[in-house]
Amino acid sequence: MTRQKHDVVEDYDGSYKFAPITEAEVSRAMIKRYMTTMYERAISDVVIVGAGSAGLTCAYTLASLRPDLKITIIEANVAPGGGAWLGGQLMTPMVIRKPADRFVRELGIEYEDEGHFIVIKHAALFTSTLLSKTLAFPNVVLMNATAVEDLIIHPDAKSQNQRVGGVVTNWTLVALNHDTQSCMDPNTITAPVIVSATGHDGPMGAFSAKRMVSAGLLKELGNMRGLDMNRAEPAIVNGTREVAPGLVMTGMELSEHDGSNRMGPTFGAMIGSGIKAAHEAIRIWDSSEIVAGRIVA
Ligand SMILES: Cc1cc2nc3c(=O)[nH]c(=O)nc-3n(C[C@H](O)[C@H](O)[C@H](O)COP(=O)(O)OP(=O)(O)OC[C@H]3O[C@@H](n4cnc5c(N)ncnc54)[C@H](O)[C@@H]3O)c2cc1C
Repeated sequence: MTRQKHDVVEDYDGSYKFAPITEAEVSRAMIKRYMTTMYERAISDVVIVGAGSAGLTCAYTLASLRPDLKITIIEANVAPGGGAWLGGQLMTPMVIRKPADRFVRELGIEYEDEGHFIVIKHAALFTSTLLSKTLAFPNVVLMNATAVEDLIIHPDAKSQNQRVGGVVTNWTLVALNHDTQSCMDPNTITAPVIVSATGHDGPMGAFSAKRMVSAGLLKELGNMRGLDMNRAEPAIVNGTREVAPGLVMTGMELSEHDGSNRMGPTFGAMIGSGIKAAHEAIRIWDSSEIVAGRIVA
């Protein structure tokens, strides 16, 4: 590509001058890249559903351990970050129990050490740092304002048991309007490993756990139990696993799946669970024979 020299001036005394641009150049600059990415990521290596603290920790860990994997994050909201922009009761400090402080140091975030736990001055400092470091990996793609509406489920190559083999997506604004407009078909992303990190039950939350019940992959939801910090956090980290073939579940969605306690505003479990989910995804990937995004053996 030949680049023309432009007469630009960065002067804040009234002579600031931009390089010229046409409206069509702006549109094509976005469309070319976004649609090429959609085309390329129609087959991904790992899809992470939900960019909250658990999903982002999983994406960061996976991307740093495995630069060879195409990691695609689908986030329903315009703003990624889930519930981790604030601490409890809309206050700003974020409490993280040890040993999850190791990950905070890895991200290079300042904190106060209270002995058995740490406090970051603002939850947004954690989330924005994690988000920017995750997006900086060349193998990570984030598609926000995009909702997972369903799971692709096919018979397993060997056992004929049901296996999750991808996600069904739509623009969130479309997903929210299926009741008002008919026949707005979705798109799909095929992947051998899906990590579900959709958080608590809510309009879109606990998505995969609820779909597992309606698809017959899970008998019933466990439903989140009352608050108990000391039981809740280890239950989420230790319970992080492949809950159905091809589907790893992490973060607070697991409390709905398993029926474990909630922990309130302490975030170590989201970090530990996200890291464990990344290792689970790698285990499945490395122990499978994969052709065109499908596990064949
Ligand atoms: C009722 C309630 C109770 C809470 N109780 C606790 C608690 O006990 N302990 C605690 O730590 N925190 C609690 N929180 C706060 C907060 O949800 C969590 O701390 C933390 O943010 C959970 O992290 P996560 O990554 O699992 O999920 P979240 O931060 O919720 O992130 C999930 C992300 O997935 C996205 N998503 C959801 N469905 C879809 C879909 N279908 N397609 C694409 N994206 C999707 C969401 O937009 C969101 O960004 C509570 C929140 C609520 C609303």
